[in-house]
Amino acid sequence: MTEESQTAPRTLALFNSLTRQIEPFRPVHAGEARVYSCGPTVYNYPHIGNMRAYVFADILGRTLSHKGYRLTHVINITDVGHLTDDADAGEDKMEKMAKAQSQSIWDIAAHYTQAYWADIAALNIRQPAKWSIATDYVPQMIAFAEKIAPAHCYELESGLYFDVASVADYGRLARAVTDEGEGRIEAVEGKRNAADFAIWRKTPAGETRQMEWDSPWGKGAPGWHLECSVMSGDLLGFPFDIHTGGIDHREIHHPNEIAQNQAFCCAGSLDSAANSGANMWLHNNFLVERSGKMSKSSGEFLRLQLLIDRGYHPLAYRLMCLQAHYRSELEFSWEGLGAALTRLKRMILAAERLKDVAPGDARHPKLTPMLNAFEAAIGDDLNTAVALTALEDVLFAKKVDLSAKRAAVAVMDDVLGLGLLSVERRDLRLRPRHATVAEAEIEGVLEQRRLARAEKDFAASDALREQLVAAGVEVMDGDPLGWEWVPE
Ligand code: AMP
Ligand code: ZN
Repeated sequence: MTEESQTAPRTLALFNSLTRQIEPFRPVHAGEARVYSCGPTVYNYPHIGNMRAYVFADILGRTLSHKGYRLTHVINITDVGHLTDDADAGEDKMEKMAKAQSQSIWDIAAHYTQAYWADIAALNIRQPAKWSIATDYVPQMIAFAEKIAPAHCYELESGLYFDVASVADYGRLARAVTDEGEGRIEAVEGKRNAADFAIWRKTPAGETRQMEWDSPWGKGAPGWHLECSVMSGDLLGFPFDIHTGGIDHREIHHPNEIAQNQAFCCAGSLDSAANSGANMWLHNNFLVERSGKMSKSSGEFLRLQLLIDRGYHPLAYRLMCLQAHYRSELEFSWEGLGAALTRLKRMILAAERLKDVAPGDARHPKLTPMLNAFEAAIGDDLNTAVALTALEDVLFAKKVDLSAKRAAVAVMDDVLGLGLLSVERRDLRLRPRHATVAEAEIEGVLEQRRLARAEKDFAASDALREQLVAAGVEVMDGDPLGWEWVPE
């Protein structure tokens, strides 16, 4: 923790989906913050909408650290149990992809986990204290299910089901009444309530699954909701502080986790948030794209790599996320991403001359209002959009000692994670995959242009510039970088 953050006001208020209110953050354990984030199902590449969920969780974690809490963050990797339909219908997503690609589930999981971690790194998302892998916790899942089964579950031919009527306030998080919740499908005959869900899915007689384990209910695999209850409780202890996920999880996955946690802890009412397993439940809203390119089933869906291939630095996407409030829907567009890239370039350029300066005391009279504005914004349910403007006010402030500026930028960027003091502007110059010229060629044309200009042949110089523009290259006279790719 930096000296500045020790003196920063600790106030932090967050929107708790369970109460639909902004509440002050009050840690369960003094000075600590324990956070669990629902992680990816590693059956395919993540799309950039998925990555918005982790940029948000990262901002939350960084803010908690900045406000002085010792953070323990867990993100899980789901490599078993997530069905193609959240409400208990369909196939296991992992099994389905393994079949389609004629590979083992383990290979599929390993490949897409690595791809996800590459995106995490590219977006400057901090490593959590632990990545918990679902298949490492199957014995604990069976033990958890055995404990809650007598009072809360019943067995059908297809598995062990959780009776949602056996706990108080089922569905409060979704604001849905049992049996009338959105998206429920009564796909399984014999369920007591439409919202009842499998916590153990038996392998049908005569079949073998690639992933199956012995259990008191026969060979089978755990339900997806069970995984998160078990890993979060095991690693963070019930109740922990904050549980995060995308807003879709507010409807089925998290209400079901909560019901299991209640069954495990005490079966008490949700008037006490602690009975839900976590004191606060936070949800990021969706990144949306009108043409449907977000869907993994569409051919060229929006992966981070696609952005990079088109010449957009991944941190421009991070900035695009931070420009919106995490609880607002964010519409993706290439124009919007381009604007974010330009904004990032300006910020990195302004930060460039701070890099070699020794950090001083950030509490310079000119910077204090900006630091205060930043603290207030980030403490107000993570208002990154306003925090960004405070950071820019510091970056572009005139007549301020550079060492004070550097210290203030360091404090703010520790939270926002744009890498302003480490990323170079030239790092943002990414070659679009379809670029028609190579860098050496560009340098060659620029050399010819320098000669033409030396001879005052401006017509030739302009023609050479146009030649580069046509190839997607912007020439920047007077700029030390000299030229840039224009993203596709
Ligand atoms: P999944 O891999 O499908 O389990 O999703 C991983 C995370 O991404 C979950 O927290 C989802 O709620 C979240 N998510 C899915 N789609 C979007 C989207 N379009 N925008 C933001 N978050 C999303
Ligand atoms: Zn989960």
